[in-house]
Amino acid sequence: MASSEGQLSKLGEAARTFLATRPGLLIAGRNTPAASGARRDVLDPSTGLVVTDVAEGGAADVDAAVAAARATFQSAEWRDMRPLARERLLHRLADLIERDADILAELEVIDTGKILPMARHGDLVIALDSLRYMAGWTTKIEGTTIDPSFSYIPPIRFSARTVRQPVGVVGQIIPWNFPLVMAIWKIAPALAAGCTVVLKPAEDTPLTALYLGRLIAEAGFPAGAVNIVTGGREVGMAIVEHPGIDKIAFTGSTAAGQDIQRRAAATMKRLSLELGGKSPVVILEDCPVPMAVEGAAGAIFFNHGQVCTAGSRLLVHRSIYEDVVQGLAHAANGMVLGEGMDPAGQMGPLISARQRDRVAGYVQGALDQGARLLAGGEAPDRDGFFYRPTVLADGTPSMTIFQEEVFGPVVIAMPFDTEEEALALANDSCFALGASVWTQNLAAANRFAGALRSGNVWINAHNILDPAVPFGGWKMSGYGRELGHSAVELYTEAKSITMPLL
Ligand code: NAD
Repeated sequence: MASSEGQLSKLGEAARTFLATRPGLLIAGRNTPAASGARRDVLDPSTGLVVTDVAEGGAADVDAAVAAARATFQSAEWRDMRPLARERLLHRLADLIERDADILAELEVIDTGKILPMARHGDLVIALDSLRYMAGWTTKIEGTTIDPSFSYIPPIRFSARTVRQPVGVVGQIIPWNFPLVMAIWKIAPALAAGCTVVLKPAEDTPLTALYLGRLIAEAGFPAGAVNIVTGGREVGMAIVEHPGIDKIAFTGSTAAGQDIQRRAAATMKRLSLELGGKSPVVILEDCPVPMAVEGAAGAIFFNHGQVCTAGSRLLVHRSIYEDVVQGLAHAANGMVLGEGMDPAGQMGPLISARQRDRVAGYVQGALDQGARLLAGGEAPDRDGFFYRPTVLADGTPSMTIFQEEVFGPVVIAMPFDTEEEALALANDSCFALGASVWTQNLAAANRFAGALRSGNVWINAHNILDPAVPFGGWKMSGYGRELGHSAVELYTEAKSITMPLL
């Protein structure tokens, strides 16, 4: 492991100590090396330097993790645990995350490149809110009672009821853009429902999940309730194909989601897939330009555009189009790129050199297809995987950049003349995850809210999520709703029980 100081000297003692432990996998509550002995370097995207390495799991480690999760799922300790006791464990975990929030935020910064205030006051807050919200569901998983007729059994009256029971051992595979938040969004509803978990963090961002694993053990969950296998796509595939896993919850690219769907068919696993997006931001004629600029900038540049709901297609009424795109370009040009621990930094790097090059390729493709560059369009001359916030104007629906997910700080704008045209453009996508409409006109806002074909619609807002509000996609953006009441349904199966009334 070739390491160099980079940002490490800016981290607190506890985060540095954790990195120095060179974490292993979490299997049956123990910090475990990979069966193969393999390890993978973890890079700081702000500098490209190695900050530690972690165990690189494989199929044998998935077997061990599934065995541990299954044993715990079937154990009396977990199976018979009262709902309130599970709730208490989840709150205890939240207390520990609160205690160590500064450490987790720093690990998130060094692993993802996001700036510290965002990690500390964004990711950590969302993760905690989500965990505490889900803790409350343990005691509210309910069924129904039914008065059936059974008219072909005339002499006997029956009673029926439904119950919801944990789906079993769940495999959860998450991406690199919000590593801790994604881990909590996955494990919290699963544990609340009484499932046990095999979690695979993204290969680029294993750190906060592994730290979380230690807090899960400290909180007092039974060993094996949550197992964490770090590694690449092969680990994900082994989880998807494993006969000992009952359900897969996945967040990531549509291509990986399609592969998972195919592989999961053999064992008929339950699936929830939160996939890619190409979310439209629709600015109507009456929207004040400063509000439009601020809204559009937040929609695309939040988390460096590495957000599945990033507002990457900007549709603006022609009467204010040039003012809005020029204002957005001005905002983009004014953003200060910086290392995550640099207090002056407003936007960090992308996750990897591969992702930066992918983003650059999309921008070049858009320029080749006739888009007009107003800001950015290049990687700055510095270490790390930075890419300048980029504003492209004069898009057309046939451009690749109008149709495919870039997952970077790149927006393509185009004008429209009528509401009908705006709606048609907004809905002209194979994706349907998020969409926003910006206007002071309540009737128009409601017309768009009704007609936008998307899992999530915001009015005069974008990218805001709350644990009580269901979240998920239509079309190629996947299916299943995380958060809200629906999250519990994802992790339970319904059972009908019928008996004669004696
Ligand atoms: P990815 O979808 O390939 O990876 C996400 C996670 O899935 C990782 O943990 C990865 O190891 C795992 N994985 C990949 N292929 C798998 C498979 N066939 N079976 C099981 N697990 C698998 O994403 P990426 O390669 O890191 O990024 C590529 C693109 O995906 C991005 O540019 C972006 O467009 C998109 N993406 C979307 C989201 C989102 O939240 N919608 C998140 C990350 C990436």
